[in-house]
Amino acid sequence: MVIYGDYHTHTIYSSGKHKRKHATGSILENALFAKQKGLKEIAITEHGFSHKLYGLQRKNLEQMRKEINEAKLKTGINILLGIEANIISSEGDVDLTLNDIKNFDFIIVGFHCFAKSKSLKEYFKFFLPNILGFKRKKDYKRNTLALLKAMDKYPIDVISHPGVKMPIDFAEVAQQAKKTNTMLEINGKRIAYKENDVITIKNAGAKFIISSDAHSANRVGEVRKPINFAIKNNISNNDIANMGKRINYKNYKN
Ligand SMILES: [Zn+2]
Ligand SMILES: [Zn+2]
Repeated sequence: MVIYGDYHTHTIYSSGKHKRKHATGSILENALFAKQKGLKEIAITEHGFSHKLYGLQRKNLEQMRKEINEAKLKTGINILLGIEANIISSEGDVDLTLNDIKNFDFIIVGFHCFAKSKSLKEYFKFFLPNILGFKRKKDYKRNTLALLKAMDKYPIDVISHPGVKMPIDFAEVAQQAKKTNTMLEINGKRIAYKENDVITIKNAGAKFIISSDAHSANRVGEVRKPINFAIKNNISNNDIANMGKRINYKNYKN
């Protein structure tokens, strides 16, 4: 069984104004590699606007849509314009406006140390303890509440690399994920779930999604690590939303 689509891929548009390239593929190149690997669909999910180093710039959206439409025609791969938005406060704020949400087909939200916090107060309260790697009871509590609130406030399709740099209570997050139809990612590079967390998530009835988080075109569809993780932890194809089948989107209209 292969994944139907890779719903977490980056392109040169993630590089923002930064000189060092964060991701190297173009939209067309990502689609071509997806086709070569037998996928039917991909999402282009650049880093959210508030990422200090590699955030997408709003002025590029129009050009991205154009390239997506061209690449769809050339490759036959369905391509979603998504974003990997940042959670920026303990209140569950995400760096997306209401208008931004209308512009994307697919919304991933994750915690990234290099995102700009909502306020200086939130930097000290929410970002700094996570950047410093604190795993006290109160850190779990604060982070979990932030994610629960984010899932309530925004139409989030996927939480990327859950638990990485942001310790959370998987039982509560999984319950909320089930309730809001939000998929929990098994990321191509960074996986924080322990064996027990997987059992907890499965028991809550939440779905996983397997994605590459590719930063170069040749890594699109490269999901050996998450597949091996799934096999090792008895995660069945049924528990994985994109295994052999198209996922349900919240934001995509076509
Ligand atoms: Zn990420
Ligand atoms: Zn990513």
